[in-house]
Amino acid sequence: MTYSTFADARRALDADETSCEALVSSFLETIDADNDRYNIFLQVDREGALNHARYLDSQRKRGHDRPLAGLVLGVKDVICIKDREVSCASRMLHGFESLYDATVIAKLRDAGAIFIGKTNCDEFAMGSSNENSYFGAVRNPLNPDYVPGGSSGGSAAAVAAGMCHAALGSDTGGSIRQPAAFCGVVGLKPTYGRVSRYGLVAYASSFDCIGPFAHSVEDVAWLMEVLAGQDPADATSAPVPVPAYREVLGGSLHGLRIGLPREYFGEGLDADIRRVLEEVVGKLEAQGAEIKELSMPHTDYGIATYYVLTTAEASSNLSRYDGVRYGYRADLDEIRAALAEARTRGEAEQSVLRELYVESRTDGFGEEVKRRIMLGTYVLSSGYYEAYYAKAQRVRTLIRSDFDRAFEEVDVLLTPATPTPPFPLGSKTDNPLEMYLSDIYTVTANLAGVPGLVVPVGEHPSGFPVGLQLLGRHFDEALLLQVGDAVMKLS
Ligand code: GLN
Repeated sequence: MTYSTFADARRALDADETSCEALVSSFLETIDADNDRYNIFLQVDREGALNHARYLDSQRKRGHDRPLAGLVLGVKDVICIKDREVSCASRMLHGFESLYDATVIAKLRDAGAIFIGKTNCDEFAMGSSNENSYFGAVRNPLNPDYVPGGSSGGSAAAVAAGMCHAALGSDTGGSIRQPAAFCGVVGLKPTYGRVSRYGLVAYASSFDCIGPFAHSVEDVAWLMEVLAGQDPADATSAPVPVPAYREVLGGSLHGLRIGLPREYFGEGLDADIRRVLEEVVGKLEAQGAEIKELSMPHTDYGIATYYVLTTAEASSNLSRYDGVRYGYRADLDEIRAALAEARTRGEAEQSVLRELYVESRTDGFGEEVKRRIMLGTYVLSSGYYEAYYAKAQRVRTLIRSDFDRAFEEVDVLLTPATPTPPFPLGSKTDNPLEMYLSDIYTVTANLAGVPGLVVPVGEHPSGFPVGLQLLGRHFDEALLLQVGDAVMKLS
């Protein structure tokens, strides 16, 4: 018995009905039985997890407990665990081992969490379907012909498939919230700066956030109490006090002002998703919440702004993978041989070093990553910088001011998480633009830096749950958790 939520497992541990070791063994059995079918875990740390569990059990016997003892976690393979592979689901880093722990890993381990393995994702966290992994697509455990969402699809699927209590993901434009919606679990993207990014492999540094997935809002609250907080190793982490998140759950919604931004309910939203959300809104109103429609006029520019700015940051962040310093390196002998042959044909002389960069990056990165590096290099190039990058920065400010204005009128915003239910594997891989549009309701939170919580509500005729998104003021995760918990219990 694994106890699907950590809260239940914790009660069972306290009643001596189970042990950390038994919890880990049981999750390992599920992984052994089902991982091949869904392609969720890239590495499973069987021995490490069992050893840590036994150690925690022996400590508990001696009266040394820890707040998260017995919490079994999956970790997206873009987060560093010392001496473990961190592949970013890329050929480029396949086999590369982390030299240090991410701050979130060190804090969680200290609190008693057990890491059971690294989860599959889109390569370097770029994607919305988990089909961009060098190690193959992840399948949605609710229906394996469908995508689990991306880029943290493995983490969402691991929780949905009962392979761990909770998991860590990263969210740059929706990568926690969209897969949470597609797999029917809870996912939180914290405020930018709320959780340390130290040890998260960078995609777009002014957008990236680490956050949790779990079955319940209570478990997410529990995790956030440990994850959140300033870190001297991350200069962008904020010195804002961390509340006792679990204590806010269960409070009254009376008088709470909930905003429905018109732009999130317009054309393109699946009619059944709209209907399910409207039902929830009705129930919230019956609980005494005040519902207000409002406008966030720059929402439509979200996707374009996001893809200009994040590709620019990515092109710079990913320049470190040069075939020299880390990861994949093209075969030097082959390069030398090819250059020698070119010389005999009288072609212009190229340096071995240049060819090493070119070949390593050509073979080491997948299609989507290369597309973004090229886009990003283009928008930053001298002739186009003003027209694209600088302009997008200004639009980012406008999008942020939409949020500032909205939060003068309401306490929290309620929106869909995704415009459609999960789509079949392979159905959008030929059309990157269509794929990018699946992030339309999530990218704005990253542009503005505000927190976003997705919870599963109701049922869609396709059989999948519907994801409801709550967006809040900077550092107001507590209110999102309170409302999200109430929403889940109402629906
Ligand atoms: N799906 C979005 C993208 O492809 C978001 C990715 C993310 O949040 N890491 O960029």
